[in-house]
Amino acid sequence: MPKNLSKIAKAKKIKYFLISFVDLFGVLRSKLVPAQAIGDMQKDGAGFAGFATWLDMTPADSDMFGVPDPDSLIQLPWNKEIGWLASDLYMDGKPVKASPRIMLKEQIKKMSQKKLQMKSGVECEYFLISEDGHSLADKRDIQSKPCYDQSALMRRYDLIKEICDCMLEMGWKPYQNDHEDANGQFEMNWDYSDSLITADRHVFFKFMVKSLAEKHGLRATFMPKPFSNLTGNGCHAHVSVWNGKINKFLDNKDQLGLSKLAYNFLGGIMNNTQALSAFFNPTINSYRRINAPPTKSGATWSPSSISYTGNNRTHMIRIPDKGRFELRLMDGSANPYLLQAGIIAAGLEGINKKLNPGKPLHCNMYEDYKKYPKLKKLPNDINQAIAMLQNSKALSKAFGSDVIKSYIKLKKSEIKNFKVRNDFNKRKPVSQWEKDNTLDC
Ligand SMILES: [Mg+2]
Repeated sequence: MPKNLSKIAKAKKIKYFLISFVDLFGVLRSKLVPAQAIGDMQKDGAGFAGFATWLDMTPADSDMFGVPDPDSLIQLPWNKEIGWLASDLYMDGKPVKASPRIMLKEQIKKMSQKKLQMKSGVECEYFLISEDGHSLADKRDIQSKPCYDQSALMRRYDLIKEICDCMLEMGWKPYQNDHEDANGQFEMNWDYSDSLITADRHVFFKFMVKSLAEKHGLRATFMPKPFSNLTGNGCHAHVSVWNGKINKFLDNKDQLGLSKLAYNFLGGIMNNTQALSAFFNPTINSYRRINAPPTKSGATWSPSSISYTGNNRTHMIRIPDKGRFELRLMDGSANPYLLQAGIIAAGLEGINKKLNPGKPLHCNMYEDYKKYPKLKKLPNDINQAIAMLQNSKALSKAFGSDVIKSYIKLKKSEIKNFKVRNDFNKRKPVSQWEKDNTLDC
């Protein structure tokens, strides 16, 4: 029996529910539903006009319905009257295939057919900025190497503590908070979990950080590169694959502690990275972060070549510890569901075809890249990424060619809108268009 949301509302004194979904561009959309109406909504879903969001639909399409997943319920720790729910989209009684949460669930299903589950954790970096987005909120945060700066961290104690307290209350097991490598940039880490739970939490985390920052008179942004001279907002993922309680990525006898299955999975990721950049680095602004010149702190901490290594942050994939790897490609604008779905789809191809990632490279890739001219490079801008996605048979097969076509169509219309006024140039300052369209990503 699914949980009864009406009963839960009464027991927990919830007055309103936010029935939410994320569209293809990662925008979080919701209806605010009074608890008295949640019984019917739980059965039938909340109605939305699909064309009004970033989904490939027309104004003539039927209504789509967001059917809430009761397992995703979160009572807002900072406003207990409200319960937040992730929902799955349906139209004419069928799941909307090109909706991100359903895309992820499809990949999870394919994995479970092999009796495997992916677990992951995400590291969502963000900046605290001024209301207009032109400057950092903390005028004193000006060190050239500000990473882990205690004073700048503690000037934001009230906000950081409130967010961390919320995560403690929600049972996410947060374990550390710090000032990151750019001025005004922070990161907060919580425990890894099943990929769907992590994706829902990732969506909620962004909503929570933005909401609580506003409450404290600040603005938070996950934009990949709001300031050209500073390190950008990454969204690294730590990945492992399990069968029940057994970590199938772990092999204590291997030098880096990874199993054959893990290397095949890695091979799949490396084989599909160029096309996956369209999901992992989905905005025009994303390409200021990868293949970028060094920042004020001395390093971008983001990749440019497709390579893997041991515990070394200059490569796209780092194996910091036995039994897992860290994929450092994604940025703050990545859609939380497509991030997880893309990793699974690529990893499954690697497992199915027993792909070999080659040998790990143990070098400082920021300096030594010229020694490896044959390494595949990451796309240099969104157009290249979209072209690579368009050519990817593997991803069309994994998600369905209609879904990929829809994604590309919407992305192309966005690029067209940008090009009316701008030219993408990494050496020029971040454009107003990028800020207007990405600061709230
Ligand atoms: Mg970080």
